[in-house]
Amino acid sequence: MSNESTAANNKSKPGQLQQDSVPVKSVTVINKEKEDAVQRGSKVPPPEGDLEGTAVGSYHHGRGAQFNTKNRFLKNESTREHIEGIDDWEESNIPTQYIEQQSKTIVNKIESKDVGMSYSMNPYAGCEHGCIYCYARNVHEYWGYSAGLDFEQKIIIKKNAPQLLRKFLMHPKWDATPIMLSGNTDCYQPAEQKFRLTRGLLEVCNEFNQPVGILTKNSWILKDKDVLQDMAKKGIVSAMVSITSFNEDLRRIMEPRTTTAKQKLKVINELSSAGVRMGVMMGPMIPGLNEHEMQRIMKAAADNGATFTAYTFIRLNGAIKFLFHDWLFKNFPNHADKVWHLIEQSHDGQVNDTRFGVRMRGEGHIAQMVAQQYKKYGKLYNMNAEEWSLNTNIFKRPGEQGKLF
Ligand code: SF4
Repeated sequence: MSNESTAANNKSKPGQLQQDSVPVKSVTVINKEKEDAVQRGSKVPPPEGDLEGTAVGSYHHGRGAQFNTKNRFLKNESTREHIEGIDDWEESNIPTQYIEQQSKTIVNKIESKDVGMSYSMNPYAGCEHGCIYCYARNVHEYWGYSAGLDFEQKIIIKKNAPQLLRKFLMHPKWDATPIMLSGNTDCYQPAEQKFRLTRGLLEVCNEFNQPVGILTKNSWILKDKDVLQDMAKKGIVSAMVSITSFNEDLRRIMEPRTTTAKQKLKVINELSSAGVRMGVMMGPMIPGLNEHEMQRIMKAAADNGATFTAYTFIRLNGAIKFLFHDWLFKNFPNHADKVWHLIEQSHDGQVNDTRFGVRMRGEGHIAQMVAQQYKKYGKLYNMNAEEWSLNTNIFKRPGEQGKLF
């Protein structure tokens, strides 16, 4: 639920804090020894002793990232180094911080050709769900924070998002192109329970008949069933629920604050029964961890009313490489090596990949096998490849008649 181009569309300079956000004067860095080990990770896994020393009794339960990576844009950052790495883990009890601000824009143009939509809007920056593989982590650096724990703990709230959307849609040149809600971070993450900005955005879309696609890993979407049902009748909304695994032990550590797979199926069931066109996103598939679950996920989603589907293949760009490596070796010390090398094999020897057309799917025999399964089971369960099918013909501004074609 993230794309890197969104950040590129932010009006502020990379690393520059937005007005009204809380400035970060220092970024905590784990002790030098451990950081060096993590930095080496793409080629050589950290030694076992290091793993034991940091994993036992020192894990941030309820968080995906286990430390803050350096922000590549902060030239003058000061860092705090600990001789004993265990000091850092006390930060796990820091509650999530909501940073409210008035934003300048809410709709971003997506430049990536392999994302599936041209525009996105994200009422929240950062995501408390804390998925360890999340591509949006790197985007948090543009806001002046770290892609690690900061991404999960410091959430920027764009308080005026609905007002900005209204202004945007009023522009006479806007042509009702579908907008992705959650193009970068999850619009139904826990912050939504307090701020209801996604609700506000949907109400504006409903008023203008603006088509919108939603992607989420949270069952809070059910709170908006009434407006979604209304929009579905007009064909201006489709939603995807992201499911990566039925293994609860894996979900709890990989996507710690998301809804369980069972609840996600309930969301698909309830909203599809209410007439909302529902899909399932399997993102990302990770060789050696969850790629074998694809058929089961597709079948369960189809059984519950999903009619379309999509998937992505793991890639580890920017700071995610270090965060994921640390997480992988702490949680799966016995087969972390294998998983790591399978990811490398799927991206031409690297774990990161920026090549359009390849980066989201990977290449090589594992990636091919996943692609074949996707095709085969999509056909078997009658689920089209990602197809939002949104009605762009009834858009209207208040006081206008609407399009006549
Ligand atoms: S739900 Fe997970 S993958 Fe999606 S934006 Fe939040 S942290 Fe990232």
